[in-house]
Amino acid sequence: MTTTIEREARWCAHNYQPLPVVLARGQGALLWDEGGRRFIDMMGCYSAVSLGHGHPRILKALTEQASRLAVVSRAYHTTRLGPFLELACRLTGMDGGLPMNTGAEAVETALKAARKWAYTVKGVPPGQARIISCADNFHGRTIAIIGMSSVAQYRDGFGPYPAGFDQVPFGDAEALERAITPDTAAFLVEPIQGEAGIVVPPPGYLAACRRICDDHRVLLIADEVQTGLGRTGRLLACEHDGITPDAVTLGKALGGGVLPVSLFLARREVIDVFRPGDHGSTFGGNPLAAAVGHEALSVLVEEGLIERSAELGERLLSSLRGLGSPLITQIRGKGLFVGIQFDAARVTAHEVCDRLAAKGVLTKDTHRNSIRFAPPLVITPELLDEAVAALRRVLSEVA
Ligand code: PMP
Repeated sequence: MTTTIEREARWCAHNYQPLPVVLARGQGALLWDEGGRRFIDMMGCYSAVSLGHGHPRILKALTEQASRLAVVSRAYHTTRLGPFLELACRLTGMDGGLPMNTGAEAVETALKAARKWAYTVKGVPPGQARIISCADNFHGRTIAIIGMSSVAQYRDGFGPYPAGFDQVPFGDAEALERAITPDTAAFLVEPIQGEAGIVVPPPGYLAACRRICDDHRVLLIADEVQTGLGRTGRLLACEHDGITPDAVTLGKALGGGVLPVSLFLARREVIDVFRPGDHGSTFGGNPLAAAVGHEALSVLVEEGLIERSAELGERLLSSLRGLGSPLITQIRGKGLFVGIQFDAARVTAHEVCDRLAAKGVLTKDTHRNSIRFAPPLVITPELLDEAVAALRRVLSEVA
């Protein structure tokens, strides 16, 4: 008899390396496998499940809207899109938005907006606009986006890539200033690098980038697909540095943990570059996604989850630091967005994840021989303590 894992491996492309668990149910910050075994979800679907699995308000919005009207395309106006974008803009300080589905699509939208803005507003000669991104970035998996990547694993074997992209080290504002030319349209940055291993830049970095972008008339685009919506203890991670970007991408948690919902949000001058027919998506901004996205934003704010992320994040960081393990070389993060790096000579992050799973704690390794702890923001302090205790036991096993 073929097992569930064998069947998936037989029919699904092998573009992931899943841990050997078969999940069947979730509630809040907990998951259960097909045999009924309980796990603490310390990954939250790469930060997409911030409100927890099966949040009652999200399920209600989802089912009510699905039974009323789910998708009709943007060939028509619908009741849900305006209120959703209005709320998203009010919360982020942006003037307008363009709805998409996945994070990568929101980033692609940002790249197109930046180029068109450069030609139509800044006066860059046609075909010459350049966009600067950071080394070790992660913005998604499309050809243009991986063309901006410095990570061989993402890029190799998929070229050629579009031209017009430059790269600077993350966290180095002077390097950004040196890289800017008159043709530079935008600087695209993750306020905290997520997939690179949860890398926090030096304080003041984004504020310095903001000044440099203003001086050179370059758009500052914050990719907050992962860091946004309370993940780092603020609505947007940019707020840690007290800045407002010219444009923001949101995704992941915007879908309430049930749907892909993303947004490109921007200042008036930028959002207004789009004209009928020059960009779009069949599903982007559909009534179901808009209803769920609106509810996700409302839940986040009304249930105090942003503050909760900040408080629990402090608690998590201090209990991790209290582990005092020589196997841990670095602990990085803000809010419930934490990377724990291990001494590669002594243990791999992959092994730590395997052993944590055996103790009922699920997460995934990431770059820099690190694991992430980014649970749903609704997690209880007790479950966080349980996860840290499991990590303590794993470290004593491999020490
Ligand atoms: N931007 C960032 C910062 C991300 O972390 C991710 C996903 N990890 C993406 C974009 C891409 O999002 P998606 O997988 O929904 O396309």
